[in-house]
Amino acid sequence: WERLCLIEFSHVSKTYPNGTHALYDVSLKVQKGEFVFIVGSSGAGKSTLLKLITCEEKADGGRLRVNGRDLLHIKRRAVPYLRRTMGMVFQDFRLIPTMTVFENVAFAMHIVGASNREIRKRVPYMLGLVDLQDKQKCHPAELSGGEQQRVGLARALVNNPDLILADEPTGNIDPALSFEIVDLLSEINLRGTTVVMVTHEHNLVKHFQKRIVEIHDGRIVADTNGLEAAQ
Ligand code: ADP
Repeated sequence: WERLCLIEFSHVSKTYPNGTHALYDVSLKVQKGEFVFIVGSSGAGKSTLLKLITCEEKADGGRLRVNGRDLLHIKRRAVPYLRRTMGMVFQDFRLIPTMTVFENVAFAMHIVGASNREIRKRVPYMLGLVDLQDKQKCHPAELSGGEQQRVGLARALVNNPDLILADEPTGNIDPALSFEIVDLLSEINLRGTTVVMVTHEHNLVKHFQKRIVEIHDGRIVADTNGLEAAQ
């Protein structure tokens, strides 16, 4: 059973050096294959939660396991290997403006040591999955926000991660296209990748009946599955 657990927070707190208590006594389990929305107002602690999962920040105490690793005691040199099991999607896309769409996705493979042959085969496949096969030679500035985020998704997925962490991925996209991005994340999830998505867009959360974890002032105040939430 434990092997099915991808993320486990147990009584985790996080205080920043300036004394801000960002998370307080958080316990949360995410099983392999789940799709979880993390919701809550600005300053609630959502980004901090993601940063603990990626080891950008360290928890004060408690127990935090991600993909079989104990993040309170992980060695610094093990962190890059942990991150290779995750794909990140950002609100501001974070594409490299001087690179083409193909090169942006290829770069993510290149830095983990993939061969050119693998890259030539895999990148077009990934761009096909997000329906951007015709835009491979474009630069990010030539794309709409929704298209840029689809490149971001292809890049996050190209190394076949166990987990996608998306921090407000639809925050800079037209509402109509936001549904498209979450649809894609949902499809990716159905193929077996666990998805954790931070958002404060109620329409999205209501539409896609998934698990919803609500954070308020650094504490989890609600954790419901999609069906309960719809009632
Ligand atoms: P959210 O993502 O829900 O908007 P955050 O996790 O970014 O919330 O922030 C939670 C709390 O921690 C806020 O009060 C914020 O001001 C504070 N905080 C976030 N990052 C830092 C930091 N690096 N140093 C000090 N305080 C921070």
